[in-house]
Amino acid sequence: MRMTVLASGSKGNSTVIASANTRLLVDAGLSCRELLKRMALANEDPASLDAILITHEHQDHIAGLAVLARRLRIPVYLTEPTHRAWARMVTPRTTMTYAKWLDHVQAEKEARAAAAAALNTEPGAPSMTVSSSWVGSDTSDLAASAGAPSIAASSSWIESSATDLCAAADSPTDLDEDQEAPAAKPDPAFLPTVEYFHSGTNFSIGDISITPFTIPHDAADPCGFVFESRSESVRMAIATDLGYVPPNVKAALKRIDVLLLESNHDLEMLRDGPYPWSVKQRVLSRVGHLSNHATAEFLARDYDGAATWIVLGHLSEANNDPSLALLAAEQAIQGRATLLGNRLLLAQQSAPLTPICL
Ligand SMILES: [Zn+2]
Ligand SMILES: [Zn+2]
Repeated sequence: MRMTVLASGSKGNSTVIASANTRLLVDAGLSCRELLKRMALANEDPASLDAILITHEHQDHIAGLAVLARRLRIPVYLTEPTHRAWARMVTPRTTMTYAKWLDHVQAEKEARAAAAAALNTEPGAPSMTVSSSWVGSDTSDLAASAGAPSIAASSSWIESSATDLCAAADSPTDLDEDQEAPAAKPDPAFLPTVEYFHSGTNFSIGDISITPFTIPHDAADPCGFVFESRSESVRMAIATDLGYVPPNVKAALKRIDVLLLESNHDLEMLRDGPYPWSVKQRVLSRVGHLSNHATAEFLARDYDGAATWIVLGHLSEANNDPSLALLAAEQAIQGRATLLGNRLLLAQQSAPLTPICL
């Protein structure tokens, strides 16, 4: 099993979790173009990704989501409240009541059924023949990339054409859609396939079993994940964006072989730092982020010492120093670090980490 942290920090998060047969991308918090670049750098083939999983709807976890999911045409797994919050966020001018949301979900379902039917009756027919206005509106987006080679073509293509792949919708105009002609405007909330999960309820993708767990954070329905490869009996976990470590998270993080754990800020640096008071309060709150101190406290008191690797992640660039985060964690697991276990790594914001394979 393999964990490749493509990016970690307040400016964007994304991690590949892979078993022998299944590859998942957890969060897509960089632009599509940057995510593809990082995957190429880390020798991760985007064409082999089976799904994207989303922890919560904050920008540093979803920035490239829609464009990447459309380009790779892979399903997105998230909770229903996260999906709704995200859809509302990317369509800010639309007032979406719950009734409207249900209509929207129904229309999406019908559009997919119609697309599937059209493909069945006309083999090879492009999905843009579907009459639904929702899917229809997205076809301009697909059509814009029609000249681009297929994602399945070859991995070497990634380097040369990553720009083409994302160009249609991952450009500055994507941020300011008013600049696009109305007829060419894709629905920003369109995802090719959406699958819902519930925190606390286990589900599987390929040969990876996934247990999402609720985390205390100021988002609609945020979660962390435990991944277990059935064939390799290795367990990996991602726990970032949490204000404190509640009992359910302590319970979820038992017997983990590779643990990506938040160590967001140094308390002094945050207090004296550049953030406005309201933002400082938010970060420090019970639904904010774990400080180096809180992470060290967890490692010293509640962590079972079972991990081969502990990866410290989601470090704030403004309010933390990697050496302080590392020092706090080192002191917390003192005496337990060996050649085979409890080794510490720092995830990076600006470059992918060397893949961790077990
Ligand atoms: Zn967050
Ligand atoms: Zn975050």
